[in-house]
Amino acid sequence: MTRSGIGYDLHRLAEGRPLVLGGITVPFEKGPVGHSDGDVLAHAICDALLGAAGAGDIGTHFPDTDPKWRGAASLRFLEHARLLVDQRGLKISHIDAVVICERPRLGPHFPAMRETLARALGIAADAVHLKAKTNEGVDAVGRGEAIAAYAIATLES
Ligand code: MG
Repeated sequence: MTRSGIGYDLHRLAEGRPLVLGGITVPFEKGPVGHSDGDVLAHAICDALLGAAGAGDIGTHFPDTDPKWRGAASLRFLEHARLLVDQRGLKISHIDAVVICERPRLGPHFPAMRETLARALGIAADAVHLKAKTNEGVDAVGRGEAIAAYAIATLES
């Protein structure tokens, strides 16, 4: 049986914070504001996995009121989601995701992100597909005030 799940996340961007995305730090003058490292791509993928596994959402498993997760590396969220997927007898077959931001250009960083995300999920890098879009200057993302991501996870039993 095939199951799919969708995830979405958005974080505001502020000057002087590291831009952690897909488990790596991308050189840029702004980064996400968040309780954890604010990695929108990892968070969207995590919610997609939890959705496909029927295992709730990221807020249930990693509440931002819990000091344990303050500044947490979001790859830990993915490792935990992978465990929940495993426990349900499911296997991650594919991840597809879109990151939306005006700047910086993300394409050159995708190979490292795919490797990093795939390692956390225990799958091959070619099972992780990443795409980048701008928001054409429109809305908060288009003004460079925020970064967002969508992800779809496909699981097989
Ligand atoms: Mg988030």
